Amino acid sequence: MAFEGLSERLQSALAKLRGKGKVSEADVKAAMREVRLALLEADVNYKVVKDFVSKVRERAVGQEVLKSLTPGQQVIKVVNEELTRLMGGTQSKLELSSKPAVIMMVGLQGAGKTTTTGKLGRYLKKQNKRPLLVAGDVYRPAAIRQLEVLGEQVDLPVFSLGDKESPVRIAEEGVAKAKEEGHDTVLVDTAGRLHIDGKMMEELKAIKDTVRPDEILLVVDAMTGQDAVNVAESFNRELGLTGVVLTKLDGDTRGGAALSVKSVTDCPVKFVGMGEKVDALEPFHPERMASRILG
Ligand code: GDP
Repeated sequence: MAFEGLSERLQSALAKLRGKGKVSEADVKAAMREVRLALLEADVNYKVVKDFVSKVRERAVGQEVLKSLTPGQQVIKVVNEELTRLMGGTQSKLELSSKPAVIMMVGLQGAGKTTTTGKLGRYLKKQNKRPLLVAGDVYRPAAIRQLEVLGEQVDLPVFSLGDKESPVRIAEEGVAKAKEEGHDTVLVDTAGRLHIDGKMMEELKAIKDTVRPDEILLVVDAMTGQDAVNVAESFNRELGLTGVVLTKLDGDTRGGAALSVKSVTDCPVKFVGMGEKVDALEPFHPERMASRILG
């Protein structure tokens, strides 16, 4: 289960405050020391932890909280609100205004980009959209075939020109085809590499300039913690992301990526991957996630 360790540690740090009739500043400080350690152990970015703890402490030692009838509960409420805020506050939805709206999927190899393209197509179809999937990952062997199989599974058409054409041309022709055939949404799968490199970024920029996407979604593997956050920072600097999809949240990820990526990059997490199957994609709700973590 994702966030299990973090969840347990935060709950035990805060349990000491919960039923207390009186809570002192020292009690809050002691609890916050444990919260700080729990977050660091979950691989949350150091600076994010520092800011989070000082914000909670400042609010929690305020007179309205400590002199309230249920001070322990109030401190926990502050922690919940700040955790929610850390993850973006409210749900960030896709903004699809162009006709057709273009969603460009980017990410490193193995993060789950192609799988997520299929999942997102299915999700949009359920919202009464008519998506076209475009197979632009020409470098990873079998990525095109993989998208075609996903397309069959979710009953959506897949546009492909094989792996000999340039990804820019594939994206451009895919969007033209979508227009012709009356699709309202185009999901362009792009090539990832094992590591970020200049050539990949140049190619992604060229695709961006050509198809002018409404959304550029970075797919990152939540299991990679701070690495995922660093990847998001680089992609955002080079391309300007509109959102992040965190995959593999069904695994035992510690929580660092989910809790840091918004603060570090200012890009909201829009979806989370919860498994390998095509229906395992969910919109990300910061408030629900915070409540789940705090139990
Ligand atoms: P790409 O190279 O980024 O296109 O990665 P793929 O889409 O091929 O995914 C790599 C592996 O991760 C595949 O085995 C997927 O089934 C798996 N995967 C993708 N998303 C998830 C997820 O949310 N949870 C789990 N458990 N596995 C996932």
